[in-house]
Amino acid sequence: MADIIDGRAIARQLDEKTKAEVDALVAAGNPAPGLAVVLVGDDGASQVYVRRKIKACEKVGIRSIEHRLPADTTQEHLLAVIDQLNKDPQIHGVLCQVPLPDHIDTRLVLRSISPDKDVDGFHPVNVGRLTTGTGGIVPCTPLGVMMLINSVLPDLKGKDVVVIGKSNIVGKPVANLLLDAEATVTVTHIYTENLPDICRKADVIVAAAGAPELVKGYWVKPGAVLIDVGITRKMGEDGKEKLVGDIAFDEVQHAKAITPVPGGVGPMTIACLLANTVQAARNLASEAPAEGDDYADAPDRSMYSAS
Ligand code: NAD
Repeated sequence: MADIIDGRAIARQLDEKTKAEVDALVAAGNPAPGLAVVLVGDDGASQVYVRRKIKACEKVGIRSIEHRLPADTTQEHLLAVIDQLNKDPQIHGVLCQVPLPDHIDTRLVLRSISPDKDVDGFHPVNVGRLTTGTGGIVPCTPLGVMMLINSVLPDLKGKDVVVIGKSNIVGKPVANLLLDAEATVTVTHIYTENLPDICRKADVIVAAAGAPELVKGYWVKPGAVLIDVGITRKMGEDGKEKLVGDIAFDEVQHAKAITPVPGGVGPMTIACLLANTVQAARNLASEAPAEGDDYADAPDRSMYSAS
């Protein structure tokens, strides 16, 4: 039987570490880290996500400030709100929940967030820092993926890792983090040929395709580590909706370890958002290099440990 990598437990561990860091910042005379969450419109799923993020902030002592704007908010007004948050010394993280209404240019808005407060890690400056291995804020889900792998395989040097999916929010940043950890990385996607053969050689598979149960048992080498990022809602035989990952869970019990869906990568994403907010607050408190400065230090791999 493959071991279950318990994302909920590892996320709880990370939350404890984050809370201790918040306490230390406050004890040193700094304001509690502040996260501003901007929500435009009334998309149901976005409201749920924002509520979850705000509740999670409370647990670790991060101040959360919600800015709810109506669906007909102009782009200019939204940019002005973000500009104000960028300048506010009590705010250390700014997050703009997507999707945004159609009349707003999402890319422009996400780029207007100060890279130093970009706790989602989507700003091109942070993407550049990630791809050059020079620090910056790492996107939440990829950071969570690295922590989950680290919990069962702390040394990735020379390991064969296959990433399925090449999106900007999961596949590409995960691949860059894995390269920084000295793994041999193969990034695959919808047009990749012979995907089962490629996967069969992998020591680690990170599946982030959004294709339910794509990875079959015969794709997986005995002893491999499997990280299932995919989440698809499907109707079960009992007529109840259930969440399904990208890996055929029941077929891969010869793996060393696997993340379940739900309860694997999902809980890590919010925990990493909180950790990123504290990192941003720490950087701002210590006057870390400003935007454009060269981060000379190598990435700190201790951040892959949740404890
Ligand atoms: P995306 O649609 O932007 O990208 C999907 C990628 O997978 C693409 O590169 C595509 O080429 C590849 N792909 C799709 N079908 C494939 C197939 N059959 N074979 C090989 N490659 C295939 O998706 P995304 O935003 O990166 O998200 C991927 C999945 O991860 C989704 O299910 C999403 O819900 C989930 N997700 C989960 C979390 C979390 O917190 N747990 C966070 C982000 C995304």
